[in-house]
Amino acid sequence: MSDHVHLVSLSEKARELDEADGLRAKRAEFVLDDDDTVYLDGNSLGALPATVPGRMADVVAREWGRLRIRSWTESGWWTAPERIGDRIAPLVGAASGEVVVGDSTSVNVFKALVGAVRMADPERAEIVVDATTFPTDGYIAESAARMTGCRLVAVDPRELRTALGPRTAVALVNHVDYRSGRLHDLPGVTAAAHAAGALVVWDLCHSAGALPVGLDAHGVDLAVGCTYKYLNGGPGSPAFLYVRRDLQPRFDSPLPGWNSHRDPFGMSPRYEAADGAPRGRVGTPDILSMLALEAALEVWDEVPIEAVRDKSLALTDFFLECVAAYLPAGRVESLTPVRHAERGSQVALRCADAGEVMGSLIARGIVGDFRHPDVLRFGFTPLYVSFADVERAARVLAEVLSSR
Ligand SMILES: *Cc1c(COP(=O)(O)O)cnc(C)c1O
Repeated sequence: MSDHVHLVSLSEKARELDEADGLRAKRAEFVLDDDDTVYLDGNSLGALPATVPGRMADVVAREWGRLRIRSWTESGWWTAPERIGDRIAPLVGAASGEVVVGDSTSVNVFKALVGAVRMADPERAEIVVDATTFPTDGYIAESAARMTGCRLVAVDPRELRTALGPRTAVALVNHVDYRSGRLHDLPGVTAAAHAAGALVVWDLCHSAGALPVGLDAHGVDLAVGCTYKYLNGGPGSPAFLYVRRDLQPRFDSPLPGWNSHRDPFGMSPRYEAADGAPRGRVGTPDILSMLALEAALEVWDEVPIEAVRDKSLALTDFFLECVAAYLPAGRVESLTPVRHAERGSQVALRCADAGEVMGSLIARGIVGDFRHPDVLRFGFTPLYVSFADVERAARVLAEVLSSR
């Protein structure tokens, strides 16, 4: 009897939450499937904003096909990395002129980390890295440490504050843990790094577009992030690099390509770095991906990131409530913190048979993802995920688990 009561009451509650949702009209701006499928993998690859295909058709047929070389100036291709950086800036609490778009997150982690070590006091010879980091950040940090003669120190992010000291040059930290969905304390860790005389580089891959970051407000030094997750820029869309305004003159990029030259068309054999955000550029940008991203960012017009955060927490709270009501007790263990201050925009559930469970879920139209060895990951993108989606996903998950 109680199961039936839950089903009725939680689906009723989903309807009420959807009706009260101030962002619900945004869903129509995305290309989604029919109501039987639920997409909870926007933390891996965001859904397609509906304006992108038309814009790309024009970019290819007219800007490339007809204008060809003229598009570098007439279609604004050359300045796209800074222009699109300025569009991302308010979403991460940065000012205009502090963010540049280009290359992958991995490449930007390298630029930011080596750039930070070059700004730090040369006596400081340690790079501290979040021990639970997304692997690419760890690999790049290891190489950056070797190249700069630093020692790499891996630390649990909850113990970071005590690990930062007089030997630390820079700490590289993930804002939200990609596996557990844990949100790290950006203001606190940044302040602790500064108190220790160190710099900090934040990786915003799982927070940009999901929650307010406040880069300038918290005095962050450098940051990187990807645009194909919560920013819906498309597969492999270029990443971004933030260098705080007052640090820009000291940013000595380890990849000083011709696009970051003060006078790129002077074709000088001698490198002279451009001022400002363009200093983070390297070579010719990937224009097609870049312009798809620019079109995708239109869905953010008039959307305050605070409203996105409110809905994100309501979605993850509701998912946890449905999971607790529908799933047999003890069948899964949530890795995602209950406290809002420690939660990103995803829920990670651990169960021994997670790989098979996710396979069955996807076959039934509930798309999350599996992270080795035992984690079911569900990402909640507030611009297009509804409360009805959340209730349905938890209900199908309960059915899958009870049929195994
Ligand atoms: C997704 C993600 C990346 C991806 O890096 P790419 O260079 O785009 O492949 C890097 N770091 C974190 C924390 C991520 O979540």
